[in-house]
Amino acid sequence: MVIVLFGAPGVGKGTQAQLLAQRYGIAHLSTGEAFRQAIEQGSELGAAVQQYVHNGLLVPDELVTAVVEALLASEPYRRDCVLDGFPRTLPQAEALDALLARQGRGVDIVINLVVPEEEIVRRLLLRGRPDDTEQVIRQRLAVYAEQTRPVLDYYARQGKLHSVDGNADIETVHRRIVHVVFQHVPTAPNGPDP
Ligand code: ADP
Repeated sequence: MVIVLFGAPGVGKGTQAQLLAQRYGIAHLSTGEAFRQAIEQGSELGAAVQQYVHNGLLVPDELVTAVVEALLASEPYRRDCVLDGFPRTLPQAEALDALLARQGRGVDIVINLVVPEEEIVRRLLLRGRPDDTEQVIRQRLAVYAEQTRPVLDYYARQGKLHSVDGNADIETVHRRIVHVVFQHVPTAPNGPDP
């Protein structure tokens, strides 16, 4: 099972991906988290991505795709997983399909989390990560609108896209997602909460 959590920055992808991974006992792959760790460790990858991440710009596709390719080939990501923050551009979505196809699998479902923009900005300012200043948030939202939103059509055409209203408390949104996954992915292990 491969689940993609999709949406603008601040819609709660990371939180919901973690809850889903826990519930199903599967891996959680966050490209944003991988980059932040690399920056913190001062690795070569960290040095390569630092300026992009801090300025709210996308890391170049070839670099992101190479990182994801290596991860998807290794434990625990060779097995079922939730992807959060990837793919974020059309070339990334196409690369992901090719990578997974080579492994004899594919994306099962894409959950598009939808939250109004004022609420997004409010949440990100509360979170206060180094890239959560008002200016960088605006930049990330603009990048989302231009480069990431087109990925929605790509998955809609494949019949894999399902939107979930993310403007509610964490548990409620989690239940909504589990419900949609249960309805559309035959191999989903658990039923929805009563
Ligand atoms: P958010 O969804 O709140 O923007 P993320 O942790 O997903 O937070 O991403 C943080 C930053 O990491 C992005 O602004 C971008 O610079 C970089 N990044 C993460 N994933 C990708 C990706 N798939 N492609 C390009 N850049 C990425």
